[in-house]
Amino acid sequence: MATAARDISFDKEALKQKYAEERDKRLRSDGSAQYVRLEGSFDELAADPYTPVAEREPVHDHVTFAFIGGGFAGLVVGARLKAAGIDDVRIIEKGGDFGGTWYWNRYPGAQCDTASMIYMPLLEETGHMPTEKYAHAPEIRDHCSRIGHHFGLYDKALFHTRVTGLDWDEERSVWVVRTDRGDEFTAKYVGMGTGPLHVAKLPGLPGIEDFKGKSFHTSRWDYSYTGGNPEGAALDKLGDKRVAIIGTGATAVQCVPHLAKGAKELFVFQRTPSSVDVRANGPIDEDWFAGVAEEGWQRKWQDNFAANLGVGFPAEDLVNDGWTDLAKRMRANLKEVPPSEWTPAKMMAAFEDADFAKMEQIRQRAQEVVDDPTTGENLKAWYRQLCKRPCFHDEYLQAYNEPGTHLIDTGGQGVERITEKGVIANGVEYEVDCIIYASGFEVGTSYVSRSGFDMAGRDGVTLSERWGDGMRTFHGNQMHGFPNAFMVQPAQAANFIANVPHNIVDHADTIAAIVSHAEKAGAKTVEPTEEAEQAWVDFIASGPPRAIGSGDCTPGYYNNEGEGWGENSRVFVGDPRGALAYWAHMDAWRNSGKFEGLEFG
Ligand code: NDP
Repeated sequence: MATAARDISFDKEALKQKYAEERDKRLRSDGSAQYVRLEGSFDELAADPYTPVAEREPVHDHVTFAFIGGGFAGLVVGARLKAAGIDDVRIIEKGGDFGGTWYWNRYPGAQCDTASMIYMPLLEETGHMPTEKYAHAPEIRDHCSRIGHHFGLYDKALFHTRVTGLDWDEERSVWVVRTDRGDEFTAKYVGMGTGPLHVAKLPGLPGIEDFKGKSFHTSRWDYSYTGGNPEGAALDKLGDKRVAIIGTGATAVQCVPHLAKGAKELFVFQRTPSSVDVRANGPIDEDWFAGVAEEGWQRKWQDNFAANLGVGFPAEDLVNDGWTDLAKRMRANLKEVPPSEWTPAKMMAAFEDADFAKMEQIRQRAQEVVDDPTTGENLKAWYRQLCKRPCFHDEYLQAYNEPGTHLIDTGGQGVERITEKGVIANGVEYEVDCIIYASGFEVGTSYVSRSGFDMAGRDGVTLSERWGDGMRTFHGNQMHGFPNAFMVQPAQAANFIANVPHNIVDHADTIAAIVSHAEKAGAKTVEPTEEAEQAWVDFIASGPPRAIGSGDCTPGYYNNEGEGWGENSRVFVGDPRGALAYWAHMDAWRNSGKFEGLEFG
């Protein structure tokens, strides 16, 4: 699949200048404030189109463990707790079922971008064989249900329920959980896995409320309007419709091919092109899988993937895809430098050269695949690959060869405004029947603002107060001052670009081990000491700053829309030794049985 880095020629200085020019065109003073939430006058767009909200009585009881978020994090933590003998686990989820991002994102073509073998959690435990190298969303959503049923997590779950308050009651040593459905119950332990990309956003364009046609966000796809279904049936109600889609990120890349086939005419409004590399999906063969699936296979595959994205020289690449390709190219470049000369500057140069070559190859692909030379040129991404979410697809670029599909490139400026009849870009009004917003999800806002509640720990100190000068955790999943509380997220733990579910499984193992130890010991509380937390934060801060989404990248959610992440981001990074070392550390920490750094009360 990959052409060796050395086979692609490029003028590094000219590329650097082009990248800087393209970034500068896109920088804007309003950064993340350019977006608006699906609330207030957009409430209707936020409604769940997939599951009717069932009436129920408020809940007033006590559970051993309450987990906020029913995506992969809640499911895997729930599964591990059940396996450890904690029977009453309650998951609270704002969607109508388990799945998290896979519950909401049912747009046509939705598909996992990381290989199913390592991305879909608990495959061994549930006995499921993924059907494709990159599974489509319905299979992943079914897998979420499978985990829920397999581990009895539906019994106590509360769906269509948002947590509004989470307060530590010192006297009773319990957390008091309040929700928007009038629930008020207690839990000995709480966990939070609300995910990074769950609050949908719209571009705050002038006139956006004036449009008289149909509009929706990609995470609330209206199949009653478009026809078709999440399984990929043709969007047969769009045959007489002119459709606009705003945004060309990872979501648009997956749904544009379906819209291009279904709509009478499709207008794709582009501010910044995505880099779209080869997908090379294919079915998983049962016999091959049977040969692979010996005990412990998934962990072995996940470790191998992480090793291939890391700094070493692993002997094999089991997943072998676009993610590992870039790292392989970098290693190939590095191998040409004698180890005695491996300075940070030379390693950085090896990385840069591999990236320039990879991006040149991806740009060439756009030009080769797309028939119209101007469209092909406009689809070229002028930035380093990890400045924005890399995409992989074998029908996206091809969709622009459909006669009714038009790329409306806006030269980095974006759509100007929405009118009653359509979309204005480059000074031209495009009249359409339907506008689809593929405009993504909030990232740059605070954790508290996204989750919708500010947990209050010991002495009423809230998480936002405690984190006022930056995130503070022990191992990325516990906080001093917040007894019996856990988090599942990648910062101060593995890292941001590792396979997210691998990090989730590791956190779940840690949480289950701690809770099980506390229960066996008859402890009322468990909490990291202030010293242990401080030592961990110092250790995290001793490493290099965030590697992805730096200030010289084109704006996007990786670099807070070009605004950067500020001083506090020094501690919003992963374990400086890398993901594999973090997991090895956690394995040893758990297995020692000492739970060093924790205080059981
Ligand atoms: P993104 O935030 O990546 O993309 C939003 C898009 O909207 C960008 O192209 C942005 O342009 C564009 N946009 C915003 N405002 C305007 C405007 N005024 N005019 C024109 N365009 C505009 O959201 P996505 O939903 O695509 O993806 C979010 C994330 O979800 C991904 O990065 C990925 O992490 C995850 N995802 C994962 C998938 C998987 O694993 N299979 C699939 C899909 C998503 P600009 O770039 O210029 O800001």
